[in-house]
Amino acid sequence: MIITQKKPIEEVMTMVADAKTVAIVGCGSCATACQTGGEPQIQELTKILEQAGKKVVATTVADYCCMNLGVKSKMKAINAAEPDCVICMSCGDGVQCVAKNANNKPVYPSNDTMYLGEAVRFGVWEEACRFCGQCVLGKTGAICPITQCAKSLVNGPCGGQKNGKCEVNPENDCAWIKIYERLQATNQLEKLMETREDKGYAKYAYPRTISLRGK
Ligand code: SF4
Ligand code: SF4
Repeated sequence: MIITQKKPIEEVMTMVADAKTVAIVGCGSCATACQTGGEPQIQELTKILEQAGKKVVATTVADYCCMNLGVKSKMKAINAAEPDCVICMSCGDGVQCVAKNANNKPVYPSNDTMYLGEAVRFGVWEEACRFCGQCVLGKTGAICPITQCAKSLVNGPCGGQKNGKCEVNPENDCAWIKIYERLQATNQLEKLMETREDKGYAKYAYPRTISLRGK
């Protein structure tokens, strides 16, 4: 899931400073799970905005703020309320999708988008993938060296680990020791003998689009 964190409320209030009326769009998926964009957070933000003298004229929760068709439908009621601006409580992708459907009203993010991660237990999310576009998990025991190694090394450890901990951030386990142990446990240690191509980030041309519909 996409992990988000609430922005400091002062930053949000600065963005909406000129607005008298505000609409809020929450996200029923990742942001709800991260407690940054579900119904309780909408109510909390509504209260803060109203205490600051603003009128919240409409709220809604899209199933997924990053899915254009569903957002388009939810935005009908938001647009009908004619707010001065919209606050979107999702990831940055959702904010951009909502903005495309907001009748040219300003759309502001209430969250900072952090990373693609795993909910390891309630209230704890760990970074898992950096969308590198050339997944190497098949060769690394399904442990991501791009994300879990502080130097994103793809061909083994830097040699700086101490007692199994990363030299860059000693709170983290060394990713390459974890990879070694996983490959050993799954009888795949021979994969460590393969050399992986360095990641050629320079060749990526952003923004990328994937279409199953042909050109
Ligand atoms: S190698 Fe890591 S960053 Fe790249 S796609 Fe796979 S999990 Fe994501
Ligand atoms: S100690 Fe391990 S995880 Fe840390 S940078 Fe070196 S190889 Fe990567």
